[in-house]
Amino acid sequence: GTPTALMVGSGIGAEKGILIRNGEAVQTFKEVKIIAFDKTGTITKGKPEVTDIITVEGVTEETLLYYAGSIEKASEHPLANAIVESVNKRNIQLDNLKNFEALVGMGVQGQVKDDMIYIGNRKLLKEKNVEYNQYENAIEKLETEAKTAMLVAKDNQLLGIIAVADPIKEDSIKAIRELEKMGIKTAMITGDNERTALAIGKKVGISHVISEVLPDGKVDEVKRLQEKFQTVAMVGDGINDAPALKQANVGIAIGTGTDVAIEAGDVTLVKGELSSIITAINLSTATFRKIK
Ligand code: ADP
Ligand code: MG
Repeated sequence: GTPTALMVGSGIGAEKGILIRNGEAVQTFKEVKIIAFDKTGTITKGKPEVTDIITVEGVTEETLLYYAGSIEKASEHPLANAIVESVNKRNIQLDNLKNFEALVGMGVQGQVKDDMIYIGNRKLLKEKNVEYNQYENAIEKLETEAKTAMLVAKDNQLLGIIAVADPIKEDSIKAIRELEKMGIKTAMITGDNERTALAIGKKVGISHVISEVLPDGKVDEVKRLQEKFQTVAMVGDGINDAPALKQANVGIAIGTGTDVAIEAGDVTLVKGELSSIITAINLSTATFRKIK
């Protein structure tokens, strides 16, 4: 049966906003050497907002948002929500969309009237042979400010750039500093571009930043960390994160995230605050000291 101390531990955990789904993981917690965090929705709030709009000559912001919004209303990505919200605020009427497609790790595409519209990162525009070199410096500046720049193109012409910023959760910085103080290393795994990822990593105090990872590549990144650090915890909220949560020695799901992630995790941080991880580690240490 379950040792009494573990049951007591679980009870305290629930009180402190940590839901334990797998008791064994609680024991593993105290052996964790490195914790890998997903970025969007885990370290950040997952609610990006449009901060900058750059249009090419002859294109108005309204036109840019009209095309971008007409496509992104079909996407469930947080980046898409930011654009749709911005469109709604300005009362821009959107158009019908045909042939919508999400392009993994790159962005989205679709047809508005007779035009193909592409929204995404450099990789996407390169693939579609859209020239954006003139704006490279502007894009890099946005990324250095920890913003994600989305490039919008109509057929093979760049229309403009929409940048968003995703605010960092209030307690992320403090939690990561505390973990490092406890001697536990931290990493960030994200699909976002390297410069934005590094800027966010710097803000929260994570030096080990793994960027431009495709959704199904997170598992491999966890495996790689396990080869190097043995015992690895992974924290995430998204459908994409579920396999990585399973692969990790301790899978930690954000309670405000997707059900798929919660089901894959060993523990759930009910309020989604990263500082709950410190409580969980302390609980693990205290509980298993008692049993021995
Ligand atoms: P993440 O969840 O870390 O953002 P994704 O694999 O979902 O990683 O996305 C990787 C990149 O692809 C994004 O940073 C963005 O540049 C681009 N992208 C994905 N979805 C969209 C979208 N709906 N609109 C615009 N760009 C997108
Ligand atoms: Mg996420």
